[in-house]
Amino acid sequence: TRSIPEVLAAEGASYSFEFFPPKDDAAEQALWEAIRRLEAVRPTFVSVTYGAGGSTQDRTVRVTGRISRETTLTPMAHLTCVGRSVAQLRQVVGEYADAGVRNVLALRGDPPGGPGSPWTAHPEGLDHADELVALVKGLGTFTVGVAAFPDRHPESPSLDHDADVLVRKADAGAEFAVSQFVFDADAWVRLRDRVVARGRDLPIIPGLMPVTNVRQVERMAQLSGTPLPSAVVARLEAVADDPAAVREVGVQVATELAQRLLAEGAQGLHFYTMNRSTATLEVYANLGV
Ligand code: FAD
Repeated sequence: TRSIPEVLAAEGASYSFEFFPPKDDAAEQALWEAIRRLEAVRPTFVSVTYGAGGSTQDRTVRVTGRISRETTLTPMAHLTCVGRSVAQLRQVVGEYADAGVRNVLALRGDPPGGPGSPWTAHPEGLDHADELVALVKGLGTFTVGVAAFPDRHPESPSLDHDADVLVRKADAGAEFAVSQFVFDADAWVRLRDRVVARGRDLPIIPGLMPVTNVRQVERMAQLSGTPLPSAVVARLEAVADDPAAVREVGVQVATELAQRLLAEGAQGLHFYTMNRSTATLEVYANLGV
């Protein structure tokens, strides 16, 4: 199988799907149903996020390991610097390797007090994601991805600063970036162009979240600092009383956005699945891959 950077460099778009570690047995079963359905479209990789607590972190190791052993899929495990010393971070990377996971999304993580509160590093830990990229790359043959923020990271003074941060991450060894979900293709184009202008060839895979629930997406947009364009809000609000129609509009909006991003040169699309498969598969089918 080809590596993630090889697929991104090749002709044709890459498709990838993101999950979060399930909280209990019922959630785990729902996740596995989604994974099995999404496996059918042979994505480039599937990723599993990394939470703040010890038990959820163990679940990231467990789920990515099981994906590696029991499916045809290529797993990518997320990892953050939050509340961990360098020695502890090394240990988690070792657990990923032991579980057969060779792709890591290296993140700083949100401040321990939640998004918006000031960042404090562990006294023997790391301050920024670029340092984690270097750490993971130094521990073995890992493919390392990083986060990108087309609508500006909430703590960042400017898009130019965000582009400079991506350059640092690329120089530390990151081979691609995955973006926060976008609703405005122009925001992704602006960030991509800034990185290209800095002479770096770092693929930035745009993140897509098909809306299935208006309130949920409004909350997530607010937390992540991603503006919801008023045209999108208006289309969703027009059908807000009809859950099936909201889903349909959400899939339509995501399809249009995906088509526009691919036309602008995106090498792939990364779907925030919320551990479900239906909306993502509908968008995928609409793209006629
Ligand atoms: P950094 O790159 O360290 O950036 C953090 C801030 O510091 C930014 O404002 C940046 O501009 C600034 N900065 C970065 N480097 C430097 C530097 N060298 N000098 C000065 N300033 C700098 N969170 C989780 O907890 N678990 C997950 O699994 C997870 N998955 C994610 C997946 C994706 C695709 C994305 C987009 C985000 C994810 N997050 C996750 C959220 C992420 O951890 C937060 O958004 C976090 O606040 C920023 O992480 P980062 O890796 O971009 O950090």
